[in-house]
Amino acid sequence: MLDKLRLGLAVLLIASMLLFGCTAQGETAIPEDGPIRVTTTTGMVADIVKNVGGEHVEVTALMGPGVDPHLYKASQGDIGRLAKAHMIFYNGLQLEGNMEDILKKLSHEKPVIPVAETIPAEKLKKLEDEGGKTDPHIWFDVQLWIEAVKVVEKELAKADPDHRDDYRQQSQAYIAELEELDQYAQEEIKSIPSKQRVLVTAHDAFGYFGDAYDIEVVGLQGINTASEYGLRDIQRVAKIISDRNVKAVFIESSVSKQSIEAVVKGAQQRGQTIKIGGELFSDAMGAEGTEEGTYIGMVRHNVDTIVSALK
Ligand SMILES: [Zn+2]
Repeated sequence: MLDKLRLGLAVLLIASMLLFGCTAQGETAIPEDGPIRVTTTTGMVADIVKNVGGEHVEVTALMGPGVDPHLYKASQGDIGRLAKAHMIFYNGLQLEGNMEDILKKLSHEKPVIPVAETIPAEKLKKLEDEGGKTDPHIWFDVQLWIEAVKVVEKELAKADPDHRDDYRQQSQAYIAELEELDQYAQEEIKSIPSKQRVLVTAHDAFGYFGDAYDIEVVGLQGINTASEYGLRDIQRVAKIISDRNVKAVFIESSVSKQSIEAVVKGAQQRGQTIKIGGELFSDAMGAEGTEEGTYIGMVRHNVDTIVSALK
């Protein structure tokens, strides 16, 4: 009796494995007609796929406005959206630290592409005081983001060669806009007198921005918002502010403003006049439908906010 039951269970198990195994693969094979379903982690990556893929893709970003990718954990609904996708694009370099496992797992079933990890290592920032980790915030250097656009184009063309020309054309048009954006950021940031060109933020997201646009960057926390900060960090940053006579510091849309408020207090205790210069979009874009809800709008907003507060 027990043996029969066991046999029955085994048969059922094998049958369901075959059934689900087949449907999963059939459902997520790249469709001959109709759009490719793409799921991304951050809004910035989704924005690339929309611009390059146009009408041939249907894009869902898991992380909306104000969401911190360093701390983000996939919900049950997210797992469904990842499972149903034909392709997945994400940032990589440990930005989405809590999602690495599931993304690695899915990469055995479908194209799962970490856009930042395909950029040549010599163009990336290694962080000596973070144990040799690589800074994942590549979207802050528009030239590096252009590299990510090229990766998306290549992968879409590989998955859907029939529309290769469209992907090429759309990516070239978008890259032209990004070149203009890069130029804009270069010129605007240079208009701040060099002594005042210091960008103080809650976490070290702006390293690439600082290198690309020649502005010194000071972060209270490390590159990961999960790292702790203490009184010593607050004092270190407050000292830089008073030594350099920095006029303003900035809050980030995806990080609690508590830490930056502590820095303001610390600097004021040193007799420094300081204000919060506004909110920057660091690891998430603005609300959909607004200008800041696109990558280009987000970068422009950051540049304009920094320039008007520090100049
Ligand atoms: Zn970050």
